[in-house]
Amino acid sequence: MSVSSHHRQVESRLADSGVRYTPGRRAVVDVLGSAEGPLGAAEIHERLHGRVPLSSVYRTLAVLEEAGVLIPHFAQKGLTRYELAEWLRGHHHHLVCIGCGGVEDVTLPDPLEAEMDRIVKSIGKLTEFSATSHSLEIEGRCARCDG
Ligand SMILES: [Zn+2]
Ligand SMILES: [Zn+2]
Repeated sequence: MSVSSHHRQVESRLADSGVRYTPGRRAVVDVLGSAEGPLGAAEIHERLHGRVPLSSVYRTLAVLEEAGVLIPHFAQKGLTRYELAEWLRGHHHHLVCIGCGGVEDVTLPDPLEAEMDRIVKSIGKLTEFSATSHSLEIEGRCARCDG
């Protein structure tokens, strides 16, 4: 999905809650829309090259999470990262590197995703838990840390 279509969707979602889509908020959505995975406030700030002060990045993240535009991702070491919610970014999973702590998005090809669905449904049956969604976290070492 293109970044400009993200902007239209985010703008109308924010308008529903009476929140203005300011240039600073657009800039944060731009960074997250082109990121390879969830990012923390400091990482977003860095990618904005100082165009948006860190304190305002934090406020923007809170506002966008409240509006359901962003969701938090809690990694090890207590760092909270954010990414566009699945209704914007599409369904995907995460590769978590135990070396550098990086988190990368991965979208599975349809046959694999269908297999995941079957596994999740089977787990639901075993546990009498009615699963409505799932997200896989795969831990390991990224190509950089494995080299
Ligand atoms: Zn790594
Ligand atoms: Zn993700």
